Amino acid sequence: MTPISTLSYQGTPVRLRGTMLNLTDMWRAAGRPEDRRPADWLALEETTRFRAYADTHWTELDEPVAPDAGLAGIWTIDTDGLVAVAGGHGGGTWAHWQLALPYARHLSPAFHLWCNTTVRAAMERPAPQAAADPDPLLPHLAQHFRDLHRRFDTIDRHAADLMFLALSGQELVLGQRREFSALSRTILTRVAAAEPYGGQCPCCARARVLAEDSRPMPGAEFDHFFHRGLNRPEHGWLVCAACHGELTHGGYLVRFARTPEFRAFQALVLERRRRARSGAGGQPR
Ligand SMILES: [Zn+2]
Repeated sequence: MTPISTLSYQGTPVRLRGTMLNLTDMWRAAGRPEDRRPADWLALEETTRFRAYADTHWTELDEPVAPDAGLAGIWTIDTDGLVAVAGGHGGGTWAHWQLALPYARHLSPAFHLWCNTTVRAAMERPAPQAAADPDPLLPHLAQHFRDLHRRFDTIDRHAADLMFLALSGQELVLGQRREFSALSRTILTRVAAAEPYGGQCPCCARARVLAEDSRPMPGAEFDHFFHRGLNRPEHGWLVCAACHGELTHGGYLVRFARTPEFRAFQALVLERRRRARSGAGGQPR
């Protein structure tokens, strides 16, 4: 695959790929003149005439663009091979330098001058250097990161699916609602009162769940995180009215999205109970 190298005009990147230049980049680099977009210029009669002529005189030009197999479907190549329109990340209009340099002239004299020197020099560089990549490890790492991101997305979807299945199973097995006991409420309230929450909602961190006297605010709720039938301290938290509404009516995906906050809250519940146990039983720590 022909590597893409990136030149820079006053800080704006201009991509070059083999004999093709990115016209969209050039347009941006030249200050985005409203009436001189690549499409405007390609529609000009002068441009059409040049393309028609070039089409019948290929031997005088460099090789026309050969779309890489891997990019099939992304590139839409015009029949003469002089212009390619690409979607997605490498997007924009690409054109053979025979066409791109007149476009540079059309954009501005200063930009044209820069293209004539810099672009030609870049194209005349031997192929391996044209990659313009100081470290071959970078594209390799980039690919691995893309793969990892895809995997994380998949894992996330699987976890959400598992949560849905667990909820459905609980619904069948557990049935009815069980309120949190007074002791459970006390534990959840104390965790919400302590650092880092200091009485703020552990779910959204925006509204208060505890009043000045450390009692739950009106509207704050002891939310059954997993199922309304599971009422141990490790199954709940104290959240504000807005969060409780969202968690109750938003479906399991809303709940899934709040799992990290719930886990953080529960880590503190666990810590508190562990300390209480070792204190009461006099067990060595
Ligand atoms: Zn909240």
